[in-house]
Amino acid sequence: MSEELEFHLQQVEQSEAKLNDAQRLARIGNWEMDMTTHKVHWSNEMFNVYGYGNERFEVSFEKALERMLPEDAERTKARMKKNTEEALQAFKEKSIFEFETAPSNFTIILPDDSRKVVQGIGKIILNTNGHVTKIVGTVQDINEEYKAEQKLNAYNIELERKNKEIEQFAYAASHDLQEPLRSISNFSKLLAEKLETYPDKEMNEYMRLISGGASRMSNLIFDLLEYSRVGKDMAKRETDCSKLVHEILADLTVVIAESGAKIHIEKLPVINCYDLKSVFQNLIINAIKFRKKDISPVVNISATSTGKEFLFIIKDNGIGIEKEYYDRIFIIFQRLHLRTQYAGTGIGLSLTKKIIEMHGGRIWVESEIGEGSTFYFTIPIS
Ligand code: ADP
Repeated sequence: MSEELEFHLQQVEQSEAKLNDAQRLARIGNWEMDMTTHKVHWSNEMFNVYGYGNERFEVSFEKALERMLPEDAERTKARMKKNTEEALQAFKEKSIFEFETAPSNFTIILPDDSRKVVQGIGKIILNTNGHVTKIVGTVQDINEEYKAEQKLNAYNIELERKNKEIEQFAYAASHDLQEPLRSISNFSKLLAEKLETYPDKEMNEYMRLISGGASRMSNLIFDLLEYSRVGKDMAKRETDCSKLVHEILADLTVVIAESGAKIHIEKLPVINCYDLKSVFQNLIINAIKFRKKDISPVVNISATSTGKEFLFIIKDNGIGIEKEYYDRIFIIFQRLHLRTQYAGTGIGLSLTKKIIEMHGGRIWVESEIGEGSTFYFTIPIS
Protein backbone atom coordinates (compact mmCIF):
# COMPACT_ATOMS: atom_id res chain seq x y z
CA MET A 1 0.00 0.00 0.00
CA SER A 2 2.71 2.43 0.99
CA GLU A 3 4.62 1.53 -2.16
CA GLU A 4 1.58 2.36 -4.22
CA LEU A 5 1.18 5.64 -2.35
CA GLU A 6 4.83 6.47 -2.90
CA PHE A 7 4.40 5.75 -6.60
CA HIS A 8 1.39 8.07 -6.82
CA LEU A 9 3.20 10.77 -4.87
CA GLN A 10 6.11 10.52 -7.28
CA GLN A 11 3.70 10.86 -10.19
CA VAL A 12 2.15 13.97 -8.63
CA GLU A 13 5.61 15.46 -8.05
CA GLN A 14 6.57 14.79 -11.66
CA SER A 15 3.38 16.36 -12.98
CA GLU A 16 3.95 19.38 -10.76
CA ALA A 17 7.52 19.75 -12.03
CA LYS A 18 6.26 19.56 -15.61
CA LEU A 19 3.57 22.14 -14.91
CA ASN A 20 6.16 24.45 -13.32
CA ASP A 21 8.35 24.07 -16.41
CA ALA A 22 5.45 24.81 -18.73
CA GLN A 23 4.45 27.88 -16.68
CA ARG A 24 8.02 29.17 -16.66
CA LEU A 25 8.38 28.76 -20.42
CA ALA A 26 5.05 30.43 -21.15
CA ARG A 27 5.61 33.02 -18.37
CA ILE A 28 2.14 32.21 -17.03
CA GLY A 29 1.51 31.95 -13.32
CA ASN A 30 -1.71 30.74 -11.74
CA TRP A 31 -3.47 31.72 -8.56
CA GLU A 32 -6.36 30.48 -6.53
CA MET A 33 -8.49 32.23 -3.90
CA ASP A 34 -10.63 30.23 -1.49
CA MET A 35 -13.71 32.35 -0.90
CA THR A 36 -14.47 30.84 2.52
CA THR A 37 -11.04 31.32 4.08
CA HIS A 38 -9.96 34.09 1.69
CA LYS A 39 -6.60 32.37 1.49
CA VAL A 40 -4.73 32.93 -1.75
CA HIS A 41 -2.27 30.54 -3.34
CA TRP A 42 0.27 31.55 -5.97
CA SER A 43 2.18 29.11 -8.21
CA ASN A 44 5.96 29.45 -8.43
CA GLU A 45 5.72 31.29 -11.71
CA MET A 46 3.35 33.86 -10.15
CA PHE A 47 6.21 34.90 -7.84
CA ASN A 48 8.51 35.06 -10.87
CA VAL A 49 6.10 37.16 -12.94
CA TYR A 50 5.78 39.59 -10.00
CA GLY A 51 9.58 39.80 -9.82
CA TYR A 52 10.11 37.93 -6.51
CA GLY A 53 12.22 35.10 -7.98
CA ASN A 54 12.63 32.41 -5.33
CA GLU A 55 11.35 34.55 -2.47
CA ARG A 56 8.13 33.15 -0.92
CA PHE A 57 5.59 34.70 1.45
CA GLU A 58 1.94 34.49 2.26
CA VAL A 59 -0.06 36.26 -0.43
CA SER A 60 -3.48 37.82 -0.32
CA PHE A 61 -5.85 39.54 -2.72
CA GLU A 62 -5.03 42.90 -1.05
CA LYS A 63 -1.29 42.34 -1.44
CA ALA A 64 -1.77 41.54 -5.14
CA LEU A 65 -3.79 44.75 -5.56
CA GLU A 66 -1.00 46.74 -3.88
CA ARG A 67 1.40 45.55 -6.58
CA MET A 68 -0.79 47.07 -9.33
CA LEU A 69 -0.89 50.66 -10.57
CA PRO A 70 -3.60 52.37 -8.44
CA GLU A 71 -5.95 52.87 -11.42
CA ASP A 72 -5.53 49.22 -12.43
CA ALA A 73 -6.20 48.07 -8.86
CA GLU A 74 -9.46 50.06 -8.85
CA ARG A 75 -10.41 48.61 -12.24
CA THR A 76 -9.62 45.07 -11.05
CA LYS A 77 -11.79 45.46 -7.94
CA ALA A 78 -14.67 46.77 -10.04
CA ARG A 79 -14.22 43.96 -12.58
CA MET A 80 -14.15 41.35 -9.85
CA LYS A 81 -17.46 42.69 -8.46
CA LYS A 82 -19.08 42.82 -11.90
CA ASN A 83 -17.80 39.36 -12.90
CA THR A 84 -19.12 37.85 -9.66
CA GLU A 85 -22.55 39.38 -10.28
CA GLU A 86 -22.53 38.00 -13.81
CA ALA A 87 -21.44 34.56 -12.56
CA LEU A 88 -24.34 34.50 -10.06
CA GLN A 89 -26.72 35.54 -12.81
CA ALA A 90 -25.38 32.84 -15.16
CA PHE A 91 -25.85 30.27 -12.38
CA LYS A 92 -29.45 31.41 -11.83
CA GLU A 93 -30.37 31.46 -15.49
CA LYS A 94 -28.35 28.63 -16.96
CA SER A 95 -27.03 26.64 -13.96
CA ILE A 96 -23.45 27.48 -14.94
CA PHE A 97 -20.95 26.49 -12.21
CA GLU A 98 -17.79 27.84 -13.79
CA PHE A 99 -17.80 31.36 -15.16
CA GLU A 100 -14.78 32.47 -17.21
CA THR A 101 -13.88 36.16 -17.35
CA ALA A 102 -12.55 38.00 -20.38
CA PRO A 103 -8.76 38.65 -20.50
CA SER A 104 -7.66 41.98 -19.10
CA ASN A 105 -4.30 43.74 -19.25
CA PHE A 106 -2.88 45.59 -16.26
CA THR A 107 0.42 46.96 -15.07
CA ILE A 108 2.19 45.63 -12.00
CA ILE A 109 4.92 47.29 -9.94
CA LEU A 110 7.92 45.04 -9.33
CA PRO A 111 10.01 45.07 -6.11
CA ASP A 112 12.72 47.09 -7.92
CA ASP A 113 9.97 49.63 -8.75
CA SER A 114 9.99 48.83 -12.47
CA ARG A 115 6.70 48.27 -14.32
CA LYS A 116 5.50 45.25 -16.21
CA VAL A 117 2.37 44.68 -18.31
CA VAL A 118 0.58 41.39 -17.66
CA GLN A 119 -2.61 39.77 -18.82
CA GLY A 120 -5.01 38.18 -16.38
CA ILE A 121 -7.85 35.72 -16.97
CA GLY A 122 -10.06 34.43 -14.20
CA LYS A 123 -12.67 31.81 -13.49
CA ILE A 124 -15.36 32.01 -10.82
CA ILE A 125 -16.40 28.65 -9.39
CA LEU A 126 -19.73 28.10 -7.66
CA ASN A 127 -21.11 25.18 -5.64
CA THR A 128 -24.46 23.50 -6.19
CA ASN A 129 -26.14 26.06 -3.91
CA GLY A 130 -24.96 28.88 -6.14
CA HIS A 131 -22.34 30.20 -3.70
CA VAL A 132 -18.97 31.35 -5.00
CA THR A 133 -16.43 28.95 -3.48
CA LYS A 134 -13.29 29.73 -5.41
CA ILE A 135 -11.82 32.16 -7.87
CA VAL A 136 -8.91 30.93 -9.93
CA GLY A 137 -6.91 32.66 -12.59
CA THR A 138 -3.75 33.02 -14.59
CA VAL A 139 -1.41 35.97 -15.00
CA GLN A 140 0.82 36.06 -18.05
CA ASP A 141 3.84 38.29 -18.50
CA ILE A 142 3.14 40.02 -21.85
CA ASN A 143 5.49 42.94 -21.25
CA GLU A 144 7.73 42.32 -24.27
CA GLU A 145 4.79 41.75 -26.62
CA TYR A 146 3.06 44.84 -25.21
CA LYS A 147 6.17 46.98 -25.67
CA ALA A 148 6.64 45.67 -29.22
CA GLU A 149 2.99 46.41 -30.01
CA GLN A 150 3.29 49.90 -28.57
CA LYS A 151 6.38 50.51 -30.68
CA LEU A 152 4.63 49.21 -33.79
CA ASN A 153 1.62 51.42 -33.11
CA ALA A 154 3.89 54.43 -32.67
CA TYR A 155 5.70 53.59 -35.94
CA ASN A 156 2.36 53.22 -37.72
CA ILE A 157 1.13 56.57 -36.46
CA GLU A 158 4.42 58.15 -37.52
CA LEU A 159 4.26 56.44 -40.92
CA GLU A 160 0.72 57.64 -41.48
CA ARG A 161 1.74 61.18 -40.51
CA LYS A 162 4.75 61.08 -42.87
CA ASN A 163 2.61 59.69 -45.70
CA LYS A 164 0.09 62.47 -45.21
CA GLU A 165 2.92 65.00 -45.19
CA ILE A 166 4.35 63.58 -48.44
CA GLU A 167 0.92 63.63 -50.05
CA GLN A 168 0.34 67.20 -48.95
CA PHE A 169 3.76 68.14 -50.25
CA ALA A 170 3.13 66.41 -53.59
CA TYR A 171 -0.21 68.16 -53.82
CA ALA A 172 1.15 71.62 -52.97
CA ALA A 173 4.22 71.19 -55.18
CA SER A 174 2.35 69.92 -58.21
CA HIS A 175 -0.34 72.55 -57.75
CA ASP A 176 2.15 75.43 -57.47
CA LEU A 177 4.29 74.14 -60.33
CA GLN A 178 1.38 74.27 -62.75
CA GLU A 179 1.31 78.03 -63.06
CA PRO A 180 4.98 78.75 -64.00
CA LEU A 181 4.97 75.71 -66.26
CA ARG A 182 1.93 77.00 -68.08
CA SER A 183 3.89 80.22 -68.80
CA ILE A 184 6.87 78.23 -70.10
CA SER A 185 4.58 76.13 -72.33
CA ASN A 186 2.65 79.08 -73.68
CA PHE A 187 5.67 81.28 -74.37
CA SER A 188 7.71 78.48 -75.88
CA LYS A 189 4.78 77.75 -78.20
CA LEU A 190 4.64 81.43 -79.21
CA LEU A 191 8.39 81.48 -79.71
CA ALA A 192 8.25 78.28 -81.77
CA GLU A 193 5.62 79.81 -84.03
CA LYS A 194 7.78 82.90 -84.54
CA LEU A 195 10.81 80.78 -85.31
CA GLU A 196 8.99 78.58 -87.82
CA THR A 197 10.30 80.57 -90.74
CA TYR A 198 13.72 81.10 -89.22
CA PRO A 199 16.35 79.30 -91.28
CA ASP A 200 18.43 77.98 -88.32
CA LYS A 201 17.48 74.29 -88.13
CA GLU A 202 19.32 73.75 -84.87
CA MET A 203 17.42 76.52 -83.15
CA ASN A 204 14.11 75.04 -84.35
CA GLU A 205 15.12 71.66 -83.01
CA TYR A 206 15.97 73.18 -79.60
CA MET A 207 12.60 74.91 -79.56
CA ARG A 208 10.86 71.61 -80.35
CA LEU A 209 12.73 69.92 -77.48
CA ILE A 210 11.80 72.68 -75.04
CA SER A 211 8.11 72.46 -76.02
CA GLY A 212 8.18 68.66 -75.79
CA GLY A 213 9.82 68.79 -72.35
CA ALA A 214 7.33 71.34 -71.07
CA SER A 215 4.34 69.35 -72.31
CA ARG A 216 5.71 66.12 -70.74
CA MET A 217 6.26 67.93 -67.48
CA SER A 218 2.75 69.30 -67.64
CA ASN A 219 1.37 65.74 -68.06
CA LEU A 220 3.48 64.56 -65.15
CA ILE A 221 2.33 67.36 -62.88
CA PHE A 222 -1.28 66.78 -63.87
CA ASP A 223 -1.02 63.05 -63.07
CA LEU A 224 0.86 63.70 -59.83
CA LEU A 225 -1.78 66.18 -58.76
CA GLU A 226 -4.47 63.63 -59.47
CA TYR A 227 -2.52 60.99 -57.54
CA SER A 228 -2.19 63.18 -54.46
CA ARG A 229 -5.84 64.21 -54.70
CA VAL A 230 -7.13 60.65 -54.42
CA GLY A 231 -8.91 60.19 -51.12
CA LYS A 232 -9.55 63.89 -50.61
CA ASP A 233 -13.24 64.72 -50.19
CA MET A 234 -14.30 61.57 -51.98
CA ALA A 235 -17.69 60.05 -51.41
CA LYS A 236 -19.15 56.76 -52.58
CA ARG A 237 -22.16 56.73 -54.86
CA GLU A 238 -24.16 54.34 -57.00
CA THR A 239 -22.28 53.93 -60.27
CA ASP A 240 -23.47 52.19 -63.39
CA CYS A 241 -20.13 50.81 -64.60
CA SER A 242 -21.44 50.05 -68.13
CA LYS A 243 -22.51 53.66 -68.49
CA LEU A 244 -19.21 54.92 -67.06
CA VAL A 245 -17.14 52.81 -69.48
CA HIS A 246 -19.22 53.97 -72.45
CA GLU A 247 -18.66 57.60 -71.40
CA ILE A 248 -14.90 56.96 -71.21
CA LEU A 249 -14.93 55.35 -74.67
CA ALA A 250 -16.73 58.40 -76.04
CA ASP A 251 -13.86 60.55 -74.73
CA LEU A 252 -11.37 58.21 -76.40
CA THR A 253 -13.03 58.24 -79.84
CA VAL A 254 -9.93 59.65 -81.58
CA VAL A 255 -7.49 57.20 -79.93
CA ILE A 256 -9.78 54.28 -80.72
CA ALA A 257 -10.24 55.31 -84.35
CA GLU A 258 -6.51 55.93 -84.88
CA SER A 259 -5.50 52.58 -83.43
CA GLY A 260 -8.38 50.63 -85.01
CA ALA A 261 -9.17 49.21 -81.56
CA LYS A 262 -12.14 46.91 -81.02
CA ILE A 263 -13.56 47.21 -77.51
CA HIS A 264 -16.06 44.61 -76.29
CA ILE A 265 -17.98 45.42 -73.16
CA GLU A 266 -20.03 42.79 -71.38
CA LYS A 267 -22.77 43.83 -69.00
CA LEU A 268 -21.12 45.55 -66.04
CA PRO A 269 -22.75 45.92 -62.63
CA VAL A 270 -24.14 48.95 -60.83
CA ILE A 271 -22.02 49.35 -57.70
CA ASN A 272 -21.58 51.63 -54.71
CA CYS A 273 -18.09 53.08 -55.09
CA TYR A 274 -15.81 56.11 -55.22
CA ASP A 275 -15.08 57.64 -58.61
CA LEU A 276 -13.78 54.80 -60.81
CA LYS A 277 -13.34 56.90 -63.95
CA SER A 278 -9.52 57.05 -63.68
CA VAL A 279 -9.41 53.30 -62.99
CA PHE A 280 -11.23 52.23 -66.15
CA GLN A 281 -9.65 55.04 -68.17
CA ASN A 282 -6.08 54.06 -67.26
CA LEU A 283 -6.65 50.36 -67.88
CA ILE A 284 -8.39 50.95 -71.23
CA ILE A 285 -5.81 53.50 -72.44
CA ASN A 286 -2.98 51.13 -71.49
CA ALA A 287 -4.69 48.21 -73.23
CA ILE A 288 -4.77 50.27 -76.43
CA LYS A 289 -1.40 51.98 -75.96
CA PHE A 290 0.68 48.85 -75.33
CA ARG A 291 -0.50 47.16 -78.52
CA LYS A 292 1.56 45.07 -80.89
CA LYS A 293 2.83 46.86 -83.95
CA ASP A 294 1.00 44.90 -86.63
CA ILE A 295 -2.20 43.83 -84.83
CA SER A 296 -5.19 46.06 -84.05
CA PRO A 297 -5.94 46.12 -80.36
CA VAL A 298 -8.86 44.02 -79.10
CA VAL A 299 -9.98 44.79 -75.56
CA ASN A 300 -12.55 42.82 -73.55
CA ILE A 301 -14.12 44.32 -70.46
CA SER A 302 -16.19 42.10 -68.21
CA ALA A 303 -17.16 41.56 -64.58
CA THR A 304 -18.40 38.79 -62.31
CA SER A 305 -19.58 38.69 -58.73
CA THR A 306 -18.69 36.23 -55.98
CA GLY A 307 -21.41 37.60 -53.71
CA LYS A 308 -18.74 39.23 -51.54
CA GLU A 309 -16.97 41.24 -54.21
CA PHE A 310 -17.11 42.23 -57.88
CA LEU A 311 -14.26 41.10 -60.06
CA PHE A 312 -13.55 43.28 -63.10
CA ILE A 313 -11.48 41.93 -65.98
CA ILE A 314 -9.79 44.00 -68.69
CA LYS A 315 -8.10 41.81 -71.26
CA ASP A 316 -6.01 42.92 -74.20
CA ASN A 317 -4.06 41.31 -77.05
CA GLY A 318 -1.06 43.64 -76.70
CA ILE A 319 2.66 43.25 -76.09
CA GLY A 320 2.27 41.56 -72.68
CA ILE A 321 4.34 41.90 -69.51
CA GLU A 322 7.03 39.61 -68.16
CA LYS A 323 6.18 37.86 -64.91
CA GLU A 324 9.02 39.54 -63.00
CA TYR A 325 7.37 42.95 -63.58
CA TYR A 326 3.83 41.99 -62.46
CA ASP A 327 4.21 43.92 -59.16
CA ARG A 328 6.61 46.62 -60.27
CA ILE A 329 4.25 48.21 -62.78
CA PHE A 330 1.94 49.27 -59.93
CA ILE A 331 4.67 51.36 -58.30
CA ILE A 332 4.63 55.07 -59.03
CA PHE A 333 6.96 56.18 -61.90
CA GLN A 334 7.85 52.57 -62.79
CA ARG A 335 7.71 52.01 -66.54
CA LEU A 336 9.01 49.14 -68.63
CA HIS A 337 9.65 51.04 -71.82
CA LEU A 338 11.42 54.11 -73.08
CA ARG A 339 9.36 57.24 -73.40
CA THR A 340 10.21 57.27 -77.10
CA GLN A 341 8.59 53.82 -77.54
CA TYR A 342 5.41 54.44 -75.51
CA ALA A 343 4.45 57.81 -74.07
CA GLY A 344 3.42 58.02 -70.43
CA THR A 345 4.24 59.20 -66.94
CA GLY A 346 4.26 55.89 -65.06
CA ILE A 347 1.62 57.16 -62.65
CA GLY A 348 -1.54 55.59 -64.14
CA LEU A 349 -1.39 52.13 -62.57
CA SER A 350 -0.24 53.37 -59.16
CA LEU A 351 -3.16 55.80 -59.14
CA THR A 352 -5.48 52.97 -60.18
CA LYS A 353 -4.13 50.77 -57.37
CA LYS A 354 -4.56 53.55 -54.82
CA ILE A 355 -8.23 53.98 -55.77
CA ILE A 356 -8.91 50.22 -55.72
CA GLU A 357 -7.23 49.85 -52.31
CA MET A 358 -9.32 52.70 -50.93
CA HIS A 359 -12.29 50.40 -51.54
CA GLY A 360 -10.51 47.53 -49.77
CA GLY A 361 -10.05 45.80 -53.15
CA ARG A 362 -7.05 44.29 -54.95
CA ILE A 363 -5.55 44.69 -58.42
CA TRP A 364 -3.20 42.37 -60.26
CA VAL A 365 -2.14 41.34 -63.73
CA GLU A 366 -1.69 38.06 -65.53
CA SER A 367 0.20 38.20 -68.76
CA GLU A 368 2.68 36.62 -71.08
CA ILE A 369 5.09 38.52 -73.23
CA GLY A 370 3.69 38.79 -76.78
CA GLU A 371 0.39 37.20 -75.70
CA GLY A 372 -1.52 40.14 -74.23
CA SER A 373 -2.33 41.06 -70.64
CA THR A 374 -5.33 40.65 -68.37
CA PHE A 375 -5.81 43.10 -65.53
CA TYR A 376 -8.08 42.06 -62.68
CA PHE A 377 -9.43 44.21 -59.90
CA THR A 378 -11.94 43.59 -57.13
CA ILE A 379 -14.35 45.91 -55.36
CA PRO A 380 -15.91 44.52 -52.18
CA ILE A 381 -19.71 44.68 -52.15
CA SER A 382 -20.70 47.18 -49.49
P1 ADP B 1 2.29 54.68 -68.16
O1 ADP B 1 1.17 54.03 -68.96
O2 ADP B 1 2.14 56.13 -68.01
O3 ADP B 1 3.64 54.24 -68.60
P2 ADP B 1 1.26 53.07 -65.99
O4 ADP B 1 1.47 53.24 -64.52
O5 ADP B 1 -0.13 53.14 -66.49
O6 ADP B 1 2.18 54.15 -66.66
O7 ADP B 1 1.89 51.68 -66.42
C1 ADP B 1 3.17 51.31 -65.96
C2 ADP B 1 3.84 50.37 -66.97
O8 ADP B 1 3.16 49.12 -66.98
C3 ADP B 1 3.78 50.85 -68.40
O9 ADP B 1 4.81 51.77 -68.66
C4 ADP B 1 3.94 49.55 -69.17
O10 ADP B 1 5.30 49.20 -69.24
C5 ADP B 1 3.23 48.54 -68.28
N1 ADP B 1 1.84 48.29 -68.74
C6 ADP B 1 0.72 48.82 -68.22
N2 ADP B 1 -0.39 48.34 -68.86
C7 ADP B 1 0.04 47.50 -69.82
C8 ADP B 1 -0.60 46.65 -70.78
N3 ADP B 1 -1.93 46.62 -70.91
N4 ADP B 1 0.20 45.88 -71.56
C9 ADP B 1 1.54 45.89 -71.42
N5 ADP B 1 2.20 46.66 -70.51
C10 ADP B 1 1.47 47.44 -69.71
